[in-house]
Amino acid sequence: MAVRKFEITTRRQDLINITHFVSEAVRESGITEGVCTVFCPHTTAAITINENADPDVVHDLLLGFDAAFPDRPDFLHAEGNSAAHLKASTVGASENIIITEGRLLLGIWQGIYFCEFDGPRSRSFYVYIA
Ligand code: ZN
Repeated sequence: MAVRKFEITTRRQDLINITHFVSEAVRESGITEGVCTVFCPHTTAAITINENADPDVVHDLLLGFDAAFPDRPDFLHAEGNSAAHLKASTVGASENIIITEGRLLLGIWQGIYFCEFDGPRSRSFYVYIA
């Protein structure tokens, strides 16, 4: 098993394709059959798997998240980023991906995304392979 930490810099809101980082970690681990967990240790960011072919999907996801979770004047959280907390909890902090024949078992249109909902910030994520 192996754990790798990666650092990224984000924009205000963004879905960053991190598939190549995760693939690199799998390759370096030498593990050919197993499971890979990608984990986000932040409360206003998340990890998801979605389409990597058309960049408009990322645009539309962010538009949809904004529509589903608008900022509200009756939010109490003093930091003022409750909408970002809602988005992060809905998307989730991690994804598990099967490893087979030394590669991530992803669908042809799937990519792994780090979701930033309250940037710009320096962020990190972990890849655990077993
Ligand atoms: Zn907050």
